[in-house]
Amino acid sequence: MNVAATISRKADFPGLVTPAGKPWHYLDSAATAQKPRAVIDAVTKALGANYATVHRGVYSRSAEMTLGYEAARRRVAEFIGGSEDEIVFTRGATEAINLLAYSYPDKRRVLLSELEHHSNIVPWQLAGWDIDVCPLTEDGRIDLDAAADILTPDHAMVAFAHVSNVLGSVLDAGRAAELAHGVGAKLLLDGCQAVPRLPVDVAALDCDFYAFSAHKLYGPTGIGALWGRSELLAAMPPWQGGGAMIDRVTFETTTYAPAPQRFEAGTPAIVEAIGFAAACDYVANIGLDAIHAHEAKLVAMTREGLGRMNDVVLFGPDESAGIVSFAIDRIHPHDLGTILDEENVAIRAGHHCAQPLMDRLGVPATARASFGIYSDEDDVAALLRGIERTKRIFG
Ligand code: PMP
Repeated sequence: MNVAATISRKADFPGLVTPAGKPWHYLDSAATAQKPRAVIDAVTKALGANYATVHRGVYSRSAEMTLGYEAARRRVAEFIGGSEDEIVFTRGATEAINLLAYSYPDKRRVLLSELEHHSNIVPWQLAGWDIDVCPLTEDGRIDLDAAADILTPDHAMVAFAHVSNVLGSVLDAGRAAELAHGVGAKLLLDGCQAVPRLPVDVAALDCDFYAFSAHKLYGPTGIGALWGRSELLAAMPPWQGGGAMIDRVTFETTTYAPAPQRFEAGTPAIVEAIGFAAACDYVANIGLDAIHAHEAKLVAMTREGLGRMNDVVLFGPDESAGIVSFAIDRIHPHDLGTILDEENVAIRAGHHCAQPLMDRLGVPATARASFGIYSDEDDVAALLRGIERTKRIFG
């Protein structure tokens, strides 16, 4: 059976319908995913007919919106196998990691890896942690044998990408958890690129914290989540003050609400939370095993097509999840991206917020094609055609 043909859902995505019926080959889902109509409709309803604030209103519309907002928390928790009191809504993965880096009470040494996104590097620097860096294997996976040698009881945290946003490499999270816990450290997984393309169950992964953004999961921008084990969240002090995170305020002293509310100061992203839950429903209905198989097929086609071109360097392991990074001799990725745009092919070119990884790969930038539910063989064919044309232009 043709898996890619059975799953491709272009018709669900108004953003992919172009004027004059010309297909738009969107290959930048790792940056942000297009939105299905189910999410757009849920957001429209929450912003229109159902709109009101949450938590403080005594009138029924607000009470209903509060139920909707808390139901969204339950839905997001369920999506990754956690419980609702363990989900802190944040602005996205970036804010989730900042929250943890600032608020975790035992700030000592953190082990990162060479492939981390800047949002899993800079917050630890800003919050004053000592940083060690785990190298990569030749094919671009986090080298867990090296991690085993580096880790000591001085490490309070290990923070690794579950899936690399540049290489698509998938972490052996079970082993990472074993190694972290073996020295008494906690494990944060940056799940930004994993939640849209792999089944994620935080209990099975045995991690302690999990950070992700809704907008890569076909949901709205401006919202994401930090999942944390409840006893760990309970031991973390608040990091921002304001409304909704308190128990009792006087000028002399303030007591705080329990987690997760303690970490959600101010009026939350109500509408976005509803859209986040709708995105979880949409993705769960299709099924992450099917999505993973679909994207794996497109990755294999792309890597095979690029592999046949003798002047292309492919980065990352063959079995990467939904993401293919590459470089072409003599052609800067930005030039490639611009010429592909003329062919209605949208790829990403640059350092992908992973400058230390670019240093490790010895390139200033890569070209990156990344897939989603709506991607299909036509998109891959258009990419390969566009690359051949670019190579002819550059001689
Ligand atoms: N981590 C990874 C692996 C990512 O791909 C991204 C987004 N490119 C982030 C973190 C940051 O996510 P956001 O910008 O949505 O906060």
